[in-house]
Amino acid sequence: MNRKYVYLFSEGNASMNHLLGRKGANLAEMFSLGLPVPPGFTITTDACRRYYKEGKKIHPKVEKQIDDALIYLEKVTGKEFSHPKNPLLVSVRSGSSVSMPGMMDTILNLGLNDKTVQGLAEQTENPRFALDSYRRFIQMFSDVVLGIDLYLFEQELDQLKEKEKIKRDSELTADHLTDLIRQYKKIVRQEVKDEFPQDPKVQLILAIGAVFDSWNNQRSMIYRKIHNLPDDLGTAVTVQMMVFGNLGDSSGTGVAFSRNPLSGENQLFGEYLVNAQGEDVVAGTRTPESLCILKESSPKAYDKLTEVAKTLENHYRDVQDIEFTIENGRLFLLQTRVAKRSAVAGIKFAVDMVNEGLISKKEALMRIDPSNLSTLLHQTIDPEVKADVLATGLPASPGAATGIIIFDPEEAERMLWTGQDVILVRSETSADDIHGMVASVGILTSRGGMTSHAAVVARDLGKPCIVGCDEITINLSQKELYIQGKTLREGDLITICGSSGKVFLGSVPLVPPQLTPECHTLLSWANEVKKLAVLGSVNTPEEAKTAKLFGAEGVGLCRTEHMFMDPARVPIVREMILAQNKWERKKALDKLIPMQKKDFLGIFQAMEGCTVTIRLIDPPLHEFLPNAETLTMEIERAKMAKNYQEMEEKEELLKKVKGLHELNPAFGHRGCRIGITYPEIYDMQTRAIAEAALELKKEGIIVYPEIIVPLVSHINELKTVREQVEEVLSHVFLEYGDRIDIPIGTFIELPRACMTSHQIVEYSDFYTFGGNDLTQATFGFSRDDAEGKYLAYYLDYKILPENPFVVLDQEGVGELIRTAIEKGRARKPQLKIGACGEHSSEKKSVLFFQNIGVNFISCRPYRIPIARLAAAQAALAAAEKD
Ligand code: PEP
Ligand code: MG
Repeated sequence: MNRKYVYLFSEGNASMNHLLGRKGANLAEMFSLGLPVPPGFTITTDACRRYYKEGKKIHPKVEKQIDDALIYLEKVTGKEFSHPKNPLLVSVRSGSSVSMPGMMDTILNLGLNDKTVQGLAEQTENPRFALDSYRRFIQMFSDVVLGIDLYLFEQELDQLKEKEKIKRDSELTADHLTDLIRQYKKIVRQEVKDEFPQDPKVQLILAIGAVFDSWNNQRSMIYRKIHNLPDDLGTAVTVQMMVFGNLGDSSGTGVAFSRNPLSGENQLFGEYLVNAQGEDVVAGTRTPESLCILKESSPKAYDKLTEVAKTLENHYRDVQDIEFTIENGRLFLLQTRVAKRSAVAGIKFAVDMVNEGLISKKEALMRIDPSNLSTLLHQTIDPEVKADVLATGLPASPGAATGIIIFDPEEAERMLWTGQDVILVRSETSADDIHGMVASVGILTSRGGMTSHAAVVARDLGKPCIVGCDEITINLSQKELYIQGKTLREGDLITICGSSGKVFLGSVPLVPPQLTPECHTLLSWANEVKKLAVLGSVNTPEEAKTAKLFGAEGVGLCRTEHMFMDPARVPIVREMILAQNKWERKKALDKLIPMQKKDFLGIFQAMEGCTVTIRLIDPPLHEFLPNAETLTMEIERAKMAKNYQEMEEKEELLKKVKGLHELNPAFGHRGCRIGITYPEIYDMQTRAIAEAALELKKEGIIVYPEIIVPLVSHINELKTVREQVEEVLSHVFLEYGDRIDIPIGTFIELPRACMTSHQIVEYSDFYTFGGNDLTQATFGFSRDDAEGKYLAYYLDYKILPENPFVVLDQEGVGELIRTAIEKGRARKPQLKIGACGEHSSEKKSVLFFQNIGVNFISCRPYRIPIARLAAAQAALAAAEKD
């Protein structure tokens, strides 16, 4: 059978995007909707894969189909390749089935040569335009296809402008351009030892091959890695009749969004450049103006655009990002795709569309990637604080960030390892800067518009970004920037607010985020469908309040060791650790008990009516002690000062510090091992919990505390601690003449506990899985070392498919959890089961937890909205399967 590698627009549709790429598929769809699309055809991703398989050669069968499509194109346009009077000119564009904005290559004006350029000049009665198109084509083709350094052409252009004392490209005359074309062709001759190809058919085949090649250029590969996209999809290539936005003032080019992609407002939004060609907008080299300019210059075309945008939105049932060109007042559509959007806008679109009856609640819930909510939970500048604004640019991606100025993307990436937050400052960004953007906390550019590369990518990455900030001037060679007569250097601290476009000097206080009304609505829909309860992992009363505000249904984990880390408490904790005997330790604990009790009272009050699970302490003790090296120095100093008492005290401390030193603290003297060897500590905590709950009960405030025992591996550990906790509880109940039910559970975070769950369950009222430690113990990875050393390599080289500390390893760690649940529930069918740790708000892991019978997930307060949405999506996915 003759395989089909080329599809005319009339032969494709939107569902064929795996074959035609998104661009090709959507052009075909628009074509069949009768919208104004210049005619063309698409060469499939299949042809691209074949191209690679056959050693980067376009197979004659594919070429034959291209030839046939060309004949068709000539017929419908009435133009011909190489025709001296009416030449066919085409664009050759990349487009894969996944969105990779600006990563691959495009060639415009293909078909121009020494003869057709004259034809175009006569046809348009605009020789300057024809010559300018030709010189742009030579430059673009030489760069993308022939691999000649662009700089050589730019240098030639700059020299000419300097010689002729010209500032702007638009001032170049036809004579200048003729000269420039001659020089450009000379560069080609010198660089590739051949003439610039004159035959349009040859140009086309070479261009198609080059676009296929751009699937594997460095920036595309990096982009795919960052976005976890497969490498073997290949790109399609769309060949389409050129329309010209640079024919004069009634022409232009732009990008329109059917709704505002930043705020979510239901109003046509976009940018327009008069008398310009498509790439000028996307590249950000000229800062475009708003669509109002189009409304003024070509009102009819504007109305048509508004109408077409609505048609497309209703047709696709989602907000569209439309590239268009106006040629002499006539609208042409060059592309439509689902618009990238800020998190705020995405939620507003979804909620508004449900209210408009365009989509269902379920679709709205499934449309938002839960992790996108984290960008919505960005901090912003504290409105109470008056800070001096250094400059204002276009607010391209919301949120605020503070970091040091870095101009170079490589340097930004290097700084990542130092832990220093960086703001990447550039005149504009290109696809080559992507690694630096990923490494930065925010991006600031002096040029470009709201649809420039920097803006689009930053929104996609969820990073605060300001573009078009033309009040700043960047001097790259000096690594300086100038604003309002001030000079800032690389390394100086600035704060940017991507929601207002303001740049501030130094660090400005930031405040936590607030959810928008639409987000509340969406999350209330999530609660209607989700099966998993979502609880908060909180350590303080303030965090408990925040968690409640974000919809926590209780506290799934209170890590009590964090309560010990308060600077005011550390000396007492130290006293407790250094105690020589039980009696001394108890003295220190007596000082700690009122503090812990106060915390519990606060958390209980914030969580009235809910379950609050408190984990008995799980600290690496050495973290509370001074560093051995510092102590050694202090001992030396005391010795020199003949302060013998201090010297002896510090020597004693050093001995203890050395004694507590552990080679591998992740598996050290922590968790229930502490509770067993120093029972007084758990006694104190148990007492504080019970007393706090009973005291509130007296005031009519009811909570349901639970106690959980960490890092259990053997049943005897749990048995010992449980008996001890129960004894303290019975003492407190006796003292208070009252009692409450306080279930005692096991924090399951070691493989042995999973495998012996049938024993552990006998002493457990419930289970909570600690995915972080269970992952460490199962892989035998110490997380801090792994992430700092070899894990990145493992991910780069796909030794591991994902970071197991982010996405639960279902085959290994997940299997242990499943086993533990099965063994536990075989004995206690009603056993309550929860999951904590970072996986508990990651969507794939949440789906897994739901499907293996977990009852609740618990996460940090700012991740609760994410977990709620992930839980809703898990429930909807399961319902779909049934
Ligand atoms: C865990 O191990 O997953 C857990 C929640 O405990 P922590 O992160 O406090 O060690
Ligand atoms: Mg743990």
